[in-house]
Amino acid sequence: MLDIQDLYQEMILDHNRSPRNYRVIEQADYSAEGYNPLCGDRVTVFINLDGDVVKEVTFQGSGCAISTASASLMTQSLKGKTLTEAKTLFEQFHGMLTASEEGAIGSCLGKLEVFSGVCKYPARVKCATLVWHTVNAALQDRHEMVTTE
Ligand code: ZN
Repeated sequence: MLDIQDLYQEMILDHNRSPRNYRVIEQADYSAEGYNPLCGDRVTVFINLDGDVVKEVTFQGSGCAISTASASLMTQSLKGKTLTEAKTLFEQFHGMLTASEEGAIGSCLGKLEVFSGVCKYPARVKCATLVWHTVNAALQDRHEMVTTE
């Protein structure tokens, strides 16, 4: 029987091999760069809004499998969401990764739950959350480089 964590790992590897929405948006409404010095992950995100709805979100960068897969899955999860929904999603995602108790997992995360096993590896949590912090900074129109330190 396939363990659920094996399945999750398979999805992470798949998104790492062929990241979704991996491109630059020229003239993006918002963009920001993020860096995780602990692992060396770098990511740049590009966002176009339609009112307060995320119309388009893409990324480019180089990093470990977890950071790349997290960025890829994030773009899929954020597209079509309102800014309020995006913020809630980020909080739930962050909560899932930093919860000390296993099982404190939100049920609205959908595919993002593939990262639930990452909370057992504290050093990896930053790899998974880097792109989310970067999106946050982009939407707040902050132009300095975001780091996880
Ligand atoms: Zn990493």
